[in-house]
Amino acid sequence: MTVFVKDPCGFICIIFTYAAVVYADYVVIRWVIVQTMADSLWAPFHVCLFNTLVFLLSYTHIKAMISDPGAVPLPKTRVDFSDIHTGELSSMLQNKDDWTVCSRCETYRPPRAHHCRICKRCIKRMDHHCPWINNCVGEKNQRYFVQFLIYVTILAVYAIILVTISWLKECPLCSGEITIKQTRILHSIILIVEAVMFGLFVLTILYDQIDAIINDETSIEQLQAASDGDAPKLSYRKVLLRHICRLPCQSYHPTYRHLPSHTV
Ligand SMILES: [Zn+2]
Ligand SMILES: [Zn+2]
Repeated sequence: MTVFVKDPCGFICIIFTYAAVVYADYVVIRWVIVQTMADSLWAPFHVCLFNTLVFLLSYTHIKAMISDPGAVPLPKTRVDFSDIHTGELSSMLQNKDDWTVCSRCETYRPPRAHHCRICKRCIKRMDHHCPWINNCVGEKNQRYFVQFLIYVTILAVYAIILVTISWLKECPLCSGEITIKQTRILHSIILIVEAVMFGLFVLTILYDQIDAIINDETSIEQLQAASDGDAPKLSYRKVLLRHICRLPCQSYHPTYRHLPSHTV
């Protein structure tokens, strides 16, 4: 099943993400490679490699964005909640181990599934709703999300390396015109700032995702365990990350204000 969540915050984050990628590609090719390596065979090599990574980043981002994160199928007929009071429903659920009922979807859901108020669906092994992919990160699309984070990290490091090389090496073909030189330096500095910010941000999320996969505990479960007192309180880094991840949306979107804001 393909999904596309109609969330204005998600649209803004996606536009911002692709604007940043297109700008980085433009600066690397136009102002770093063409300006400082045009006489070398390294130029076509770096252009091909950088754009291959941009393609892979875009591909995994789109896959994470439009893939079904693991939505629990809605029933053909809705659950009759009057059954809860008669006890019939409880006996049905006993046969399904830890299955619970979602009052919003009006259906049964398997263990570890949570309701996302933005997707308006229950998602199996939901980790969190990510506005940067305008989708939930769940059982079925987490691998694309992790791959996307890896490509962003590689591209950020690669861009920093290319700019550093362009600053260090002699540049006989570089234009001596002062305005061109200033423009190149300005774009390079903006690119470095962008790469460091995105790189550190994404690297932190990547660390959290790998930690969640290795420990087989989603972000929501970590939060629930911490609030129940069954686990140590969330580290300052994790709380900060959750806020930064939702920063573009917190001011206007009430569902992003409460963290994780998804569970029923
Ligand atoms: Zn639900
Ligand atoms: Zn969601």
